[in-house]
Amino acid sequence: VRPSSGGPSWTQERTLVAVKPDGVQRRLIGAVIQRFERRGFKLVGMKMLQAPESILAEHYQDLQRKPFYPALISYMSSGPVVAMVWEGYNVVRASRAMIGHTDSTEAAPGTIRGDFSIHISRNIIHASDSVEGAQREIQLWFQSNELVNWADVGHHSSSYQA
Ligand code: UDP
Ligand code: MG
Repeated sequence: VRPSSGGPSWTQERTLVAVKPDGVQRRLIGAVIQRFERRGFKLVGMKMLQAPESILAEHYQDLQRKPFYPALISYMSSGPVVAMVWEGYNVVRASRAMIGHTDSTEAAPGTIRGDFSIHISRNIIHASDSVEGAQREIQLWFQSNELVNWADVGHHSSSYQA
């Protein structure tokens, strides 16, 4: 629902979120989706896939020289992931706050990593870390026809009539 004039300006910011293979194995897809829906964000794309190494290499291109890179690619290839595109006000920054610190040991309780994981190398979830990064990652993981522009049309109880 668009705020009426005089309210806060509305953005259509989007971010890429992915439930990593350990999150899928641990049946945490629903818990992740629930947190983003409850926060008020809008799901505009979602798919499960075995991530090809070509996508992973581009996704983590900035980390290629890190010592943990081979283990990271092997982890991300160890099973399917669920890639999602979430939309809403400041969704990039909000998502980073919701997932918590990269190192799960440091992640605050209440964050996804802080509630569901204990180790930096098995940290359940990915979320883009900047608006530019989000645009790049969304284009990498999704074709434009896989994203759905749907409108809020008031399917809540207060809009129903007898
Ligand atoms: N990672 C790791 N060991 C490290 C740092 C990172 O295994 O010492 C993995 C971890 O899965 C992390 C991912 O590499 O989520 C990407 O690292 P980044 O620094 O971008 O963290 P994120 O953006 O995921 O919080
Ligand atoms: Mg990152």
